[in-house]
Amino acid sequence: MRVIISRCLLGASCRYDGGSKPCEAVRSLASRVEVTSVCPETASGLPVPRPPAERRGGRVVLADGTDVTQAFESGAVISLGRAVGSAATLAVLKAKSPSCGRGLVYDGSFTGTLVEGDGILAARLEEEGIHVVTEDVVQSCRASVEHPVAIVLGSGLAGLLDAVKPVRRIDYRDIEGFPEDARPIEGHSFKAVVGSIDGTPVVVYPGRVHLYQGYSAAEVTALVRHAKHLGCRDIVFACATGAIPPNATTGLGLITDHINLTGTNPLVEPDDLRSVESPFVGMGDAYTPYLLELARGVAADEGIEVGEGVYAGMLGPSYETPAEIRALGMLGVSYVGMSTVNEVIMAHALGMNVLGVTLATNLAGDSSVDHESVLVAGQAHADEFGRLVRGVLRLLG
Ligand code: SF4
Repeated sequence: MRVIISRCLLGASCRYDGGSKPCEAVRSLASRVEVTSVCPETASGLPVPRPPAERRGGRVVLADGTDVTQAFESGAVISLGRAVGSAATLAVLKAKSPSCGRGLVYDGSFTGTLVEGDGILAARLEEEGIHVVTEDVVQSCRASVEHPVAIVLGSGLAGLLDAVKPVRRIDYRDIEGFPEDARPIEGHSFKAVVGSIDGTPVVVYPGRVHLYQGYSAAEVTALVRHAKHLGCRDIVFACATGAIPPNATTGLGLITDHINLTGTNPLVEPDDLRSVESPFVGMGDAYTPYLLELARGVAADEGIEVGEGVYAGMLGPSYETPAEIRALGMLGVSYVGMSTVNEVIMAHALGMNVLGVTLATNLAGDSSVDHESVLVAGQAHADEFGRLVRGVLRLLG
């Protein structure tokens, strides 16, 4: 996987004052990917040391009032050429900088005040379709013993459990809010495993309960609150689905967004309101774009064929009618299933980073599908699914 990275984050002394801003999480990522380093300000030929620069409106000015917009523009063009030439689709740039900042930049008053906006290079990269994040995003997604990656496995996908080096197990009956009477369906287990996969700390939940079994939204999201309580910041949801033609075909897919058609929401449950600051949670970027980019990069590196698209969560347990399948297709849905959406809402409300991976085991509407065929499809894709998730975990470790 190729990633564009601000040179000062890697420890190069290229800042206006001759210093650097090394970030350990970014350096760790850099050690696992192919890096194209950029520093538009060095590329511009501006002298070092010099006064600091900030964005003021559409311009860039130094603290002594000199307008350096043209130099910053030319440096961005040179760096953009390197970035585009690398064919990377992800950039990790230094936050708040007038060149590299993304989302927030200093406002030109030199008082430490931030305003919404992008640095010049960051804006150019986004225009080229390259996803830009700051070092804060990489840091907030980094796994550690204190912040293991939670993985919730669905039907047919529990084989990943074999990759875990276990440290301890947690019976779901000991998890607050998980229904005491619940019994795992075939292919699921109700013992969470705390341990590591290839050295990355994880908590794996190899089974879940569903709304269609009569459980509430609060009960089906108990594992998410448990993961948050254990310190997990990243959570991977894996689920089996049906593919909606012509938007998707069978096989592995990355979930980019969802439509909640289950008729419920975990944030209406009084129990869950204890865990979140406000139930009025914005759902933009509920599927963390940075994690999606990592997954795309791993899939490309590993030669794993993955589709991607929108997941529609249904109550079930009956499958969709032909009219429903046509309607879902017109709504832009690629995958349809009976889990995940409420869990993702809960995780997003708790501020967790979410990656959704699905295995479309059949085309929606295929009347021959049963639980047995889902397990068989899971086995057929177990190797690819394992390599995909393990590849992402390595980049987070
Ligand atoms: Fe760092 Fe970007 Fe500034 Fe260069 S231009 S010093 S890479 S923030």
